[in-house]
Amino acid sequence: MPRILMYHNFCGPTETDTDAVSTVMIRRQLEYLSRHYHVVSLAYLIEHLSSSRPVGNRTVALTIDDGRRSCYEFLFPLLREFRMPATFFVVSSFIRREDWVWTDKVLWLSEHQSAPSELAPHRIEDLFRMLNQMRPQVRNARIESVARGMNLSIPKQPPSKYAPCSWSELREMVDSGLVEIGSHTVSHPILASLTDNESWHELTSSRAQIEEGLGTKVVSFCFPNGKPGDYRQSQVRQVKEAGYLSALVTRSGMIGPGADLYQLPRIGVSGHSDSLDFAKHLDGAEYYQEKLQTSLRARARN
Ligand SMILES: [Zn+2]
Repeated sequence: MPRILMYHNFCGPTETDTDAVSTVMIRRQLEYLSRHYHVVSLAYLIEHLSSSRPVGNRTVALTIDDGRRSCYEFLFPLLREFRMPATFFVVSSFIRREDWVWTDKVLWLSEHQSAPSELAPHRIEDLFRMLNQMRPQVRNARIESVARGMNLSIPKQPPSKYAPCSWSELREMVDSGLVEIGSHTVSHPILASLTDNESWHELTSSRAQIEEGLGTKVVSFCFPNGKPGDYRQSQVRQVKEAGYLSALVTRSGMIGPGADLYQLPRIGVSGHSDSLDFAKHLDGAEYYQEKLQTSLRARARN
């Protein structure tokens, strides 16, 4: 079964940031992939899946979400060195420097000494769960009020760690023939918190903005957050109606026979993953564990 890996953020060799994969780790991971796997472009994978043509054993596609500059600075030189393709899903208003990604604003606030307890590492997931369910305006107001409570104002432009790629950096990566740019919406909303009219706008305007900025066609989409419950089935249909060829989610897994091309699962890689974790995730440890649990549960019921 093919797999799609999901990355977000990268950092230099001496930085220790658990949200980011360091160049030391990513080099090890790409070396491992080049020895044991066949890294293909998402376009190649989708073409094969949609025509039910078999893909080789141990096929992997690489994807990176959001469009932070760290992808260009730290990952792209390694993609070049290893001649490996990847797809970058970018938030169009972020690349246009109209705003930065709201989830990064929360993370940025959490890095401050004065951060309230709801931003503590063991509680921040609960906060995200709550924010994910809010309408975007309410969510933004809530984030602003957390900042005010810390006597901070969120800067208009993101600090360098959370800065976006520029259009020319994205174009340079596309021109290398290794990188495809896909859409990750205009403003990174949780689609389930929007009306269908609003999600249609996010799907179509982001593509128009990226196509205008790059001069290339955009055919792939990736759901923000992308867990079950973060989008509705009507919005999965919208992605197809809007003309995208595939859509990726965050549900962990491998791509089994007859997989829905508009809800393709991925395997996440974070700064927490060491070499063993990486090999284990890639080999589908979670996927088989889930299958085993399902069959054991069914057996227990009988
Ligand atoms: Zn994202």
